[in-house]
Amino acid sequence: MMRIFEPRVAAAVKLADMSKPFLARDLRVDPIAAYIDPPVPRERAIITHGHADHARSGHGAVLATPDTIAIMKVRYGEDCAGRFQALDYGEPLQVDEVTVTFFPAGHILGSAQVLLEHRGQRIVVTGDYKRLKDRTAQPFELVRCDLLVTEATFGLPVFQHPDPRAEMRRLLRSVADSPQRSHVIGCYALGKAQRVIALLRDCGWTAPIYLHGAMIRLCALYEEHGVDLGVLKPSLEATKAELAGQIVIAPPSAIKDRWSRRLPDPVLAVASGWMSVKQRARQGGVELPLVISDHADWNELRQTIAETGAERVWVTHGREDALVYHCRQQGLEAEPLNIAAYDEGEEDAE
Ligand SMILES: [Zn+2]
Ligand SMILES: [Zn+2]
Repeated sequence: MMRIFEPRVAAAVKLADMSKPFLARDLRVDPIAAYIDPPVPRERAIITHGHADHARSGHGAVLATPDTIAIMKVRYGEDCAGRFQALDYGEPLQVDEVTVTFFPAGHILGSAQVLLEHRGQRIVVTGDYKRLKDRTAQPFELVRCDLLVTEATFGLPVFQHPDPRAEMRRLLRSVADSPQRSHVIGCYALGKAQRVIALLRDCGWTAPIYLHGAMIRLCALYEEHGVDLGVLKPSLEATKAELAGQIVIAPPSAIKDRWSRRLPDPVLAVASGWMSVKQRARQGGVELPLVISDHADWNELRQTIAETGAERVWVTHGREDALVYHCRQQGLEAEPLNIAAYDEGEEDAE
């Protein structure tokens, strides 16, 4: 593959100012004029993972893991960026005076934290991450750094995610109790759907799992990348009677529209970290909320910040204030980054 993040002629070396990060607050890597997860098209973009609030189409050149590139091409088309350069986890790439290395973020297939090294300064941008075991994503690796840019989707002490397997067992009990009904689980098509399916398999559910059309391509992509999901069938090909006692996976938006009328007396479930907010589940008419999150919870966020050894922390992508306050209490220099694009969040159902 053609290298697009080629080193350019090295600029004259200036004395390093260690107090000033070489990353700007809009996640522009200054010495190489590349942006991390830019919300608008850029000449050079480093993409942490395939979710729509991080991976956009229209960049000149994209540097990402092979899995993330595959996901972007499936979602946005082969030519969604001018050029792609794949970089495997743990392989340092020298770009001018900056070394870029990806480490697994444990969030979805191909998700990466970005380590940037420049004149002895180490900066890690986590992207979205979680540390809980999940066989559909490469397991999170801790990376030590001076400046940590962390997400904070669930950055409040009330967010303490339960064991996802316990949530799945709750669902399977409900299925056993109502063999005449179908269970439809609303979940985001990239990452959450595959994780829910894998959890169901690991909890012993061997029957075919039925998919809404929006889920099919990405489940196939996960399987092509070695994630075994068992027998999956398009829900459209099953009769209403056949779906009694069965499990159907659909986007959250679909479970309330006409599509779900084809299901026999469906039990509406939604798998999301937000399902711990009772009011949110109630408002959505969710009968069976399943608290399954692909993000670090409050304890994981704090643990990660401490373990990276970072003295400076920038908090973004969610509930910044509580985490900033926590960091300052620990004697760290901490600030919120208000990157507008993240607020739009297509990923409400994560
Ligand atoms: Zn994400
Ligand atoms: Zn995100």
